[in-house]
Amino acid sequence: MLKIAIQKSGRLSEKSLEQIAESGISVANGDRKLVAQASNFPIELLYLRDDDIPQCVYDGVADVGVVGENVLLETGCALDIVERLGFGKCRMSLAIPKSEKYGGLTWFNGRKIATSYPKILQDFLDRHGVQADIHHISGSVEISTGVGIADAIFDIVSSGSTLISNGLKEVDTVVHSEAVMVGRKVALGQEKAAILEKLLFRLHAVQKGRKNKYVMLNAPAASVEKITAVIPGMKSPTVIPLAQEGWCSIHSVLPEGQIWEIIDQLHSLGAQGILVMPIEKMIL
Ligand code: ATP
Ligand code: ZN
Repeated sequence: MLKIAIQKSGRLSEKSLEQIAESGISVANGDRKLVAQASNFPIELLYLRDDDIPQCVYDGVADVGVVGENVLLETGCALDIVERLGFGKCRMSLAIPKSEKYGGLTWFNGRKIATSYPKILQDFLDRHGVQADIHHISGSVEISTGVGIADAIFDIVSSGSTLISNGLKEVDTVVHSEAVMVGRKVALGQEKAAILEKLLFRLHAVQKGRKNKYVMLNAPAASVEKITAVIPGMKSPTVIPLAQEGWCSIHSVLPEGQIWEIIDQLHSLGAQGILVMPIEKMIL
């Protein structure tokens, strides 16, 4: 049984459970107990506060855990990043009142910075030889300058709208973060390592599926060569003759990020009836 710690409730909870569900693993936990077992896969989920997850994994209470890299860095636990999960993306930045003139990090010398992440901030300031006074508060960091308890803040930013509405401007990004699966690979043992490998295989299949699209189109037989050069597919595209003479149907898999560009090319090569469909799982 592999024990996986995930956030009990918060920004990472839903996506963590979603990835497990998309891997075909059912965990029924209607009344949100602390621990829940999957019915069709040897894993057990531990629902914890995100701040407690790195230490729990380090102590072996859980085998792996899902947390933001920011929390991992702040706790300073020596854990391996087993997998980057691609959600919960944010950055941690320094922000100052928008009326201030900013000429670089020396601005922070002798200033007071409010944050919930004193370790990450101190490491950053030390690396850059800045001497500032760190004021540790556990929440509502963004209002610190407005109420006069600090000159600047260091906090999580995703869109930046919270900063703007508090009269702040972002002046330096310290670290980028996303949800990661953490663990201690050496401490896992053979049985748990095998379960983890099986789980990662499934997660990869789902992630790859998300990054690609299944494309079907009709093309004049004369253009098949040119079109297949544009859409190479996983091995090579599937080309099937249509009932109507002189026409083919071509099926292929394309990277999500290039879809529109490729569709423009396909169109100009005479492709018709282009269908783009999501892929649930993709195993190479
Ligand atoms: P807990 O109750 O478990 O301690 P929390 O309030 O500390 O939860 P959340 O606000 O749920 O934490 O955020 C969890 C993680 O989501 C953050 O540590 C960060 O990695 C990520 N995240 C992504 N975008 C944002 C954002 N806009 N604001 C805050 N966290 C974000
Ligand atoms: Zn937290």
